[in-house]
Amino acid sequence: VRISLNRDECVGTGCCESVAPSIFRVDDDGCAEILEPNPAPELRDRVRDAARLCPMQCISLHGS
Ligand code: SF4
Repeated sequence: VRISLNRDECVGTGCCESVAPSIFRVDDDGCAEILEPNPAPELRDRVRDAARLCPMQCISLHGS
């Protein structure tokens, strides 16, 4: 799975960081950034949860 993030849509709720802190971080500008765009397989469920929980649906997953 590869992750992309639409920072223009992000409102900085931090849900993604709460669910997957090794993958996402809300930066000083109040927007999420991706720390690990190609997460290890064991983290895929957390990444999927983060994408599902994002209120703005700005996290996209690509690949299997
Ligand atoms: S959950 Fe979505 S809106 Fe909230 S900080 Fe993460 S990417 Fe931004």
